[in-house]
Order: sequence, then C-alpha cells, then structure tokens
Amino acid sequence: MIDNVIQEYWQPIVESYRRGETALPLYMGLNQNGYDALMLAMGIELAMGLESIPLSREVEEKLQLRLELMNMRVSELEELERLLVESLNSDVVLGSEMVTVLASACLGSQHLWRDLGMPERPRLTALFRDYFPSLHASNNRNMRWKRFLYRQLCENGGDYVCRSPSCEECASYSECFDIAAK
Ligand code: SF4
Repeated sequence: MIDNVIQEYWQPIVESYRRGETALPLYMGLNQNGYDALMLAMGIELAMGLESIPLSREVEEKLQLRLELMNMRVSELEELERLLVESLNSDVVLGSEMVTVLASACLGSQHLWRDLGMPERPRLTALFRDYFPSLHASNNRNMRWKRFLYRQLCENGGDYVCRSPSCEECASYSECFDIAAK
C-alpha cells in the first residue's frame, strides 16, 4: 500500500509542487520537519537530495507568498482539516500529512485536482477513496471535490459557498457539479 499511495498520489503532488505548478504554499502546508519527513518517507535523500533538486528562486518566492496568504485563513484551514480528519482512513500511510496538504490546496482558486498537482480529476477521486472513504462515499452526485468539501462546511454551519438552501434551486449549480465527468 505504501508504494502505491506514494506512486499514485504523493509523487505527482511533490513533483508538481517542486515545479511551482500547485496552489500549495511553502513546504506544501506542512512545517519544515514534516516536509523533511515526507521526503524521507518517499525515499528522497535529504542530506544531498534537496540541494541537488533546488527550487528556483521564483518558485520559492511564490511559495513564501502563498504561505503568508494561507496564514490569513487559518480558521478556514482548520475547519477543512477537521472535516478531513473525521473521514481519514487510519490504515493508509502519511494520513495526517495528506490532511494538511489537501486542506492547504483547497485554498487555491482552481479545481482541487489542479491546485493539488494531480494529473487529472479521477486520480483525486481515487485519493479520496483511499484516504477519506466516508467523504468519497458521500459524494455520490459527482460534485466537484473542492465544492463538495465546502458544502460540508456550509452544512456544519459555515458560510462559504452556499447561497441557497438546496442545490437544485441554486444559481451556482454548474460550478459545483461536474456533470460530464465520472
Ligand atoms: S449548488 Fe449552491 S447550494 Fe449546492 S453546494 Fe453549490 S453553492 Fe452550495
């Protein structure tokens, strides 16, 4: 399982992050120790490895700015993390790291699979199946993942995306549901 989740999920996330192609902040939302531990778990040699594949200055500045912006939305981030933790599959490795990284990616402005650095949406759906099975089961209407998570927060009393009590009556329906994709 560990090889599988690293190859299927972590590898594309980290590679996209290092190219500056995600919405993730510095250290992908983790603290530096957590990020270093993740690199070790993925088999990247820290002593030499991080220096041998350095982030460009431009990418590093962008990541630092994102970190500052993320720090202005801490309560939203914590709500997302709580939601994800409730559904976390404890049998899968690097679960708490995935909670933090996924919640951090939710603060981006594009579709979650893009903001997270996934190659396509079905890979993100598989990630939810393996890491967050009850959320995966609840999203049985193929709702866009970021919208789905915020919908859960709205139902818990938050005030993030929902401008209508029911999706069927809502003007934002097409923004929330990916009718074409399965
Ligand atoms: S369609 Fe409207 S009510 Fe439903 S989740 Fe989207 S914003 Fe909220």
